[in-house]
Amino acid sequence: MKNTTDHQNVDEIDCLEAIDNLYAYLDGELNDEIILAKFKNHLSHCDSCYTRSELEGAISEKIKNTKKETTPESLQDRLRNLMEKL
Ligand SMILES: [Zn+2]
Repeated sequence: MKNTTDHQNVDEIDCLEAIDNLYAYLDGELNDEIILAKFKNHLSHCDSCYTRSELEGAISEKIKNTKKETTPESLQDRLRNLMEKL
């Protein structure tokens, strides 16, 4: 029996993609429900990405708290620009 709905490619993203989405997620820019679901699904079974997300989340919170009066986006924008150049 052939099932034409290919489920194998639906829910899986790799660690690289998860980390890529992590920054958007932390910036509150991960608005795509499907990608968000994939991202959370990956974290639920990948310890290293889960740990990383916790770590990055904590750092991101710290930046937001210490730079409340300035623009917290500017640093993250700079980081993102830096990463795009790599
Ligand atoms: Zn992973």
